[in-house]
Amino acid sequence: MSETLILFDIDGTLLRTNGAGIGGFVEAGVRVFGKDFSLDGLLVGGQLDPLILDRALGQLGMAPDEVNLRAFRHHYHECLGRLFKSGERESIAMPGVQKLLDQLEALAHVDIGLLTGNLAETGQLKLGAAGIKIEQFCVHAWGDDGETRDHLPPVALERWLEHRGIERDFEHTVIIGDTIYDVQCAKANGCRVLAVCTGVDDRETLEAAGADWVVDDLSDTEAVLEWLLQS
Ligand SMILES: [Mg+2]
Repeated sequence: MSETLILFDIDGTLLRTNGAGIGGFVEAGVRVFGKDFSLDGLLVGGQLDPLILDRALGQLGMAPDEVNLRAFRHHYHECLGRLFKSGERESIAMPGVQKLLDQLEALAHVDIGLLTGNLAETGQLKLGAAGIKIEQFCVHAWGDDGETRDHLPPVALERWLEHRGIERDFEHTVIIGDTIYDVQCAKANGCRVLAVCTGVDDRETLEAAGADWVVDDLSDTEAVLEWLLQS
């Protein structure tokens, strides 16, 4: 049986943070770049965090550099952590997610990983706050691992090769996400894609983008496993 790699998006797919992600991002931006920092009018769903920051700074006629980027990441992590810890915002796993992850983890010929626009430290914070263990994912492609989301699947497969010695096999890689950008990055790399309606885009939009299968959520574990494991 072929080895299968299943790559999960985080926001809108594994969990929702009820505004903590954007709230923490903006608060950090205001701290580092000033009170005019805003994400108003910017596309956020399915985007890579460094690109969102680039665009927000572009609106202010500013650009990120090594120093302010480091400061931003520090403050974003701090603000997000505080929002969760204070109970002001909650990170909640989507229906069926933990059961699906546990069942996939138990299968010898399947590995699960992350392919997300989040930065590593804040992505891990969101997962931890939702009770999802980072250790379940054997490879990670984060928001600063490529220039666009389409660049992330090859990064994940390269890490799979390093970690498990399994040759890059896009055909046996499945991407699960909630936006047309998840669908697009899968199709651009010849991966299968399961789209979920728990996040930004609705069923019609995801189907029109070319998702191989669209589900309302991941709660029908049996049906989702069957589809994921067909080769
Ligand atoms: Mg998402």
